[in-house]
Amino acid sequence: MSAQVHALKASTPRAAQQPDALRPAVAIHGQAVHAPRSAAAQTLADPAARPTQLVPPVAQHFAPTPFKVFTARDLDRIPQLARLTPEQRFEMKVVAAVLPFRVNQYVIDELIDWADVPRDPIFQLTFPQRGMLAPEHYDRIATLLENGADKDELEHAVAEVRHALNPHPADQMQMNMPLDEHGNRIDGLQHKYRETVLFFPSQGQTCHAYCTFCFRWAQFVGDKDLRIASSEARQLHDYLRSHPEVTDLLVTGGDPMVMKTRHLRDYLEPLLRPEFDHIQTIRIGSKALTFWPHRFLGAEDADDLMHLLQQLVEAGKHVALMAHYNHWKELETDAAQAAIRRIRATGVVIRAQGPLIAHINDDPAAWARLWKTEVRLGLVPYYMFVERDTGARHYFEVPLARAWEIYQQAIQQVSGLARTARGPSMSASPGKVEIQGVTEIAGEKVFVLRFIQGRNPDWVQRPFFAKFDAQATWLDQLVPAFGEEKWFWQDEYEAIREEKLAE
Ligand SMILES: *Cc1c(COP(=O)(O)O)cnc(C)c1O
Ligand code: SF4
Repeated sequence: MSAQVHALKASTPRAAQQPDALRPAVAIHGQAVHAPRSAAAQTLADPAARPTQLVPPVAQHFAPTPFKVFTARDLDRIPQLARLTPEQRFEMKVVAAVLPFRVNQYVIDELIDWADVPRDPIFQLTFPQRGMLAPEHYDRIATLLENGADKDELEHAVAEVRHALNPHPADQMQMNMPLDEHGNRIDGLQHKYRETVLFFPSQGQTCHAYCTFCFRWAQFVGDKDLRIASSEARQLHDYLRSHPEVTDLLVTGGDPMVMKTRHLRDYLEPLLRPEFDHIQTIRIGSKALTFWPHRFLGAEDADDLMHLLQQLVEAGKHVALMAHYNHWKELETDAAQAAIRRIRATGVVIRAQGPLIAHINDDPAAWARLWKTEVRLGLVPYYMFVERDTGARHYFEVPLARAWEIYQQAIQQVSGLARTARGPSMSASPGKVEIQGVTEIAGEKVFVLRFIQGRNPDWVQRPFFAKFDAQATWLDQLVPAFGEEKWFWQDEYEAIREEKLAE
């Protein structure tokens, strides 16, 4: 992502009422994510090819406002942080030296309730917290910062701490990268489950703000080796063309919605050709509805985006925006709701998913309200995820047993339309495993599990059982119930794994 410094046109009604002191005159350190509209119009070369029915215009009151982003260097420039103690601000700097930090003015002004900091869930979602680093890691970096250590020494220590945080969980890099016809790895693609290909466009590997718990954190801290990205539209299209078994394309990141529409168009528009008829579903994973809903509202680039989405829908594709939500507060602003209405008007379905995270949403009432709000706004609840085993996981993790309790208590409070959310699911190396419940069978307390997705499609939907463990937080900490030595899928999984790692 280039670091142009400029203002992006978009806005918020509340921002417009803010005192000048809080309003960015110029983007100070603003790394704007989007460039202003320029070539976008030219990519819509043939106006006759545009969909006939235009999506509703944006409400008048969304007047222009700049996109202004803050990173670790800018912590002292966030006026609201003046309420915290100097110790708290120092703690943030220590954590932000190791883990990615990025927030923007919209999140600061509209989503965080500063009277409730540090407990506020959106503050926990975006701002570094001391507990995110283990005490020995925290102390090491804090001491170096206090003593004004030189750059090399600090970088070395930071790299070591990062390395200790399991930067690539679940064999991401080794096991999911597909090969082309010459046996070369294709960067930027993952093909783990038969019918779905994941695509990581290189221009979409950042986000409008970063989640503190993000399992893709390693790619945001500048470690090039850890990046999974591709700028090659051709590679994507070649791969899809030669894989007729693939029905679903999932465009993900980072956040693909940080891309300019014309880049998104380069990837997606070719899928309208008959040779891609097997691609029935296009999903785009994004948290832009939370972190920068103006992406869908203010700029002219947003109009082009609406046209692109509508074109895909009208051509008969199922287009789903896989919106990442953790808390109902993300859905409460005027801008968020206007963006949702606008996207839905294109015929795109918005499905909502997100992880269960301590300090943010480990509470049945919060989930029930999130799902109810989603349904009211026309979104479809899809997944509750279990936090992955990487980064600051020890701070955010919730035991599987508790996760299931929260899920069950939340789902009991909502109507059938909100019960489309799948129970706590782990994206583990063998597959996506859902905790279906806790029960007792023949006197033994067990977890009931199932594969929602599996390396072998034949595993999907077969119930299996793990010995109950109140503390376990991930699949690899569970053991089979009833004294069995292995999981039913274990031998096959190990064979698949060896084969993949040998490639
Ligand atoms: C979740 C996931 C998918 C999509 O699975 P669905 O069950 O179709 O939502 C595809 N690939 C990977 C790696 C995933 O984690
Ligand atoms: S929006 Fe998604 S990719 Fe971006 S920081 Fe949050 S969890 Fe990570």
